[in-house]
Amino acid sequence: MLVDSHAHLDSPRYGNDREAMLVRAHDAGIGAILSIGIGEGPAEMHQALDICREYNGRPRLPRLYASAGIYPHNTPEADDAALAKLDALLAEPEVIACGEIGLDYYHEGAPHDAQRAGLIRQLEIAAARKRPILIHCRGTNESVDAWQDLFPVLEEHWKGTGLGGIMHCFGGGWDEARRSLDLGFLVSFAGNVTYPKAQPLRDVATRIPLDRILVETDAPWLAPAPHRGERNEPAMVAQTAEVLAGLHNIAPDEFAAATTQNFLRFFHLPPLVGN
Ligand SMILES: [Zn+2]
Repeated sequence: MLVDSHAHLDSPRYGNDREAMLVRAHDAGIGAILSIGIGEGPAEMHQALDICREYNGRPRLPRLYASAGIYPHNTPEADDAALAKLDALLAEPEVIACGEIGLDYYHEGAPHDAQRAGLIRQLEIAAARKRPILIHCRGTNESVDAWQDLFPVLEEHWKGTGLGGIMHCFGGGWDEARRSLDLGFLVSFAGNVTYPKAQPLRDVATRIPLDRILVETDAPWLAPAPHRGERNEPAMVAQTAEVLAGLHNIAPDEFAAATTQNFLRFFHLPPLVGN
């Protein structure tokens, strides 16, 4: 059984077939999905939790968990009301993480200082609510500039909490991976690790210890290799997991068991029973 550790189930791209998409995930062996609550901005931060509440308990569906957070490019909207909403969402039992939050210098968007300030305020709220964080970090083109800004913030404002986090859709090099592991983070890989030009990323994934690695779709984006460019969905996490299992030289079942254990252990969640 697999866990998709990062999917945007509230995307309008699932507006016509959300339940069927979740059934396909269940039938593909996906036991749980972490639904990311960033929406198109803070006004939609609650949508992932709403989806959990709508679908959990129905037969033949994966178990759903939610996050809430303000995406780096939405940090100019991180006013007191938005941060109060984040705080209230993180108090809900289904909302197990704060994210995705972090720094994005790749796309044109919020100024770097606004991103940094918004990140720090969210770290303070997540710490008070004792929720681990989901980090999005992407530098300018091939540069590690965003990582160089990220790590000092995490050292100063997060490391001491001992709560750790997940580096989502990891795209850094080995130095960034090692520093993430040193901070107590898990490292999660998405469909882009399957792309032909991603050999450097595959080399990093090969070196992540099996008890610190996760797999995700980042659906509806980043469909793995055979489906690249299509709408992604949690059922396709199996293809990325198979590539990662191959890198670790183990059977897909063994990789699935390890990553599922990592997810459940990290968030202190009950075991997934055959559903
Ligand atoms: Zn995402």
